[in-house]
Amino acid sequence: MITGKTQLLGVIGDPISHSLSPLMHNAAIQAMNTNIINEQEKVDYVYLPFPVQSEKLSEAIACLANIGVQGFNVTIPHKQAIIPLLTEVSAIAQAIGAVNTVYLTENGWAGTNTDMDGFIAPLKVYDWANKTAVILGNGGSSRAVVAGCHQLGMKEIHVLGRNPAKLQQFLDSWQNSPLPINLQVHDWREINNLINHCSLLVNTTPIGMYPHVDQSPVSEEVINKISPNTIVYDLIYTPNPTLFLVQARQQAATIIDGLEMLVQQGAIALQLWVNRPVPVGIMRQSLQKHLGLI
Ligand code: NAP
Repeated sequence: MITGKTQLLGVIGDPISHSLSPLMHNAAIQAMNTNIINEQEKVDYVYLPFPVQSEKLSEAIACLANIGVQGFNVTIPHKQAIIPLLTEVSAIAQAIGAVNTVYLTENGWAGTNTDMDGFIAPLKVYDWANKTAVILGNGGSSRAVVAGCHQLGMKEIHVLGRNPAKLQQFLDSWQNSPLPINLQVHDWREINNLINHCSLLVNTTPIGMYPHVDQSPVSEEVINKISPNTIVYDLIYTPNPTLFLVQARQQAATIIDGLEMLVQQGAIALQLWVNRPVPVGIMRQSLQKHLGLI
């Protein structure tokens, strides 16, 4: 129940009405307050969507601090633009070049990025030493995926893109980053050669995302080369599964969908704000129900 003591959390973005974060976070907060014995145990928060236009970003985050907001998520188009407005930015957020989670400190707003940990959460059960990752796409989310593959101890990280200038920029950016990562970049068509010795194949492009549900980032020929030992991961969460994952499953590969990353990055952020373990299962279930998956 919201009372005079309830504290605010939220998400800023433009647009924001499509965000699944309020649903997932409020479900977790509500579950944490079920069966509590006394008031001290209450996780007294509510998580709200805050529509913030780009030209109002600086003013908006100052206002959020002024009205006592305790923390917030950041989504498109503010993930990069917010960095110079924060008093502290974690090394991982600097390396990724984007902030998705902001929390209050004595000195003001501090930013971090939970996408990398969200991405690797379902991969930690496997051994990645001496393994090769092939990452399709070199946009924003690809950066968290590259950092995640490095964190998992992958021997080789290959990033494929369609624009040579952007690929080169992507490569250069890691060389001067707080997390100097050894990776190789390739033209998109190199997938035909790389697929044979790849243990993890990740789609970070929007190819196959609703409404283009009949598209796959790779050809039938490439799909046929996927080994049953490969883990195929698609960051897209609608549809669920994507055509790419359906095709990979037909090759007996293990598949992971984008919903898990969404849930895990949110759970890590919520835990940071409320400073206690959070019900990840409830967060996952709330999204699965909302998306008609259960
Ligand atoms: P982004 O920054 O726009 O990057 C998209 C990348 O895909 C770019 O490298 C782009 O290439 C490439 N691309 C787009 N269309 C392509 C095509 N037809 N052929 C080859 N490459 C193509 O987007 P993002 O923020 O990384 O998001 C990408 C996807 O990940 C979206 O579907 C998003 O919903 C999903 N995502 C999921 C989560 C999660 O928690 N599950 C988190 C973040 C993102 P160019 O640079 O050459 O245009």
